[in-house]
Amino acid sequence: MKGFEYLQEELNQMRQAGTFRRLVPLESEQGSKVVIDGKEVIQLSSNNYLGLTSHPRLRQAALDAVEKFGAGTGSVRTIAGTFSMHEQLEEKLAKFKHTEAALVFQSGFTTNQGVLSAILTPEDVVISDELNHASIIDGIRLTKAERRVYKHVDMASLEEALKGTQNSRKRLIVTDGVFSMDGNIAPLPEIVELAEKYDALVMVDDAHASGVLGKNGRGTVNHFGLDGRVHIQVGTLSKAIGVLGGYVASTRTLIDYLIHKGRPFLFSTSHPPAVTMACIEALDVLQEEPELIDRLWENTTFFKDGLKELGFNTGHSETPITPVIVGDEALSHQFSDKLLQYGVFAQGIAFPTVAKGLARIRTIVTAQHSNEELQMALDAFVKAGKELKIIN
Ligand SMILES: *Cc1c(COP(=O)(O)O)cnc(C)c1O
Repeated sequence: MKGFEYLQEELNQMRQAGTFRRLVPLESEQGSKVVIDGKEVIQLSSNNYLGLTSHPRLRQAALDAVEKFGAGTGSVRTIAGTFSMHEQLEEKLAKFKHTEAALVFQSGFTTNQGVLSAILTPEDVVISDELNHASIIDGIRLTKAERRVYKHVDMASLEEALKGTQNSRKRLIVTDGVFSMDGNIAPLPEIVELAEKYDALVMVDDAHASGVLGKNGRGTVNHFGLDGRVHIQVGTLSKAIGVLGGYVASTRTLIDYLIHKGRPFLFSTSHPPAVTMACIEALDVLQEEPELIDRLWENTTFFKDGLKELGFNTGHSETPITPVIVGDEALSHQFSDKLLQYGVFAQGIAFPTVAKGLARIRTIVTAQHSNEELQMALDAFVKAGKELKIIN
């Protein structure tokens, strides 16, 4: 069919530049090892921090939910699609995050879109870290609020934005808790102090911090002892929680408001029973099996130290997300291809996900990896890194 020649042209250019990527289908369940093209390889690209995607208790909870409640819900939440299990999950999330209330959305992505688009008007200002996740950026695109972007984790730049917007009705500072491509943690104590000084609201997206940082994985707010001082905490149920969905934890007022104004919540069908019950089970697992988080951090230290000792540039990572920065886009993809050949699945990430010239392999270890698997992965990094002259 004719009509998309202009798109094909751009794809051809990407092919020439070596940046055209195929999707890589897994032929097994998610885990520390996965099967790709019929071959078992070590998985270093998932967000399955605690291995919960295949945890026996989550599997069973999902099976039981299907047996008892069926496969789908048949409606959006505000019409006929709220089940008592949805509210049960939200109560658990509020307790987990030490907030009055919580509301679940279809994904972390739609949570950010729903929250940001609902609560800001042209009288307001949103002040955003320049490296915030795409879902925050798109959420901001949906508001008519004035936009200010501050330099990445730069508190002088944030304060300047706050000083320059004192005549607005409300200011909302928004930041990732852990930055997804670099693995560094936002300086939340300083952000909260500035917010309090200038009477601004704070919204933290803890997609990569929930299940990872804080007591039992409560996230960065709890990690820094800032419970009760951050107005909006966003989280995902799709990463460490191992299933699918997003949520916002905040005051009863904000949650009630979003039930009326959060567009993805209003206009998209609620989570199926299996998803909801598996998420509830995951929160119980976080409480009852804290050793999973301990193991995640042991593996993080081992692997990160290993990469650094080999001479790779791992940037400013402080969490299980460890980038191996190589710079050139095509080189990062070659590196990833070689790693796969040597038995490691670690994706190359390039523009527009990260800035031009900062292409990288992004690795995430999980609680499921054995020391042996991580050592095998380091061996593959040395071999591929030397062949491509990324290290000596
Ligand atoms: C992954 C991620 C999201 C999106 O979460 P999903 O549940 O996968 O839609 C949102 N924000 C941040 C910071 C993320 O890293």
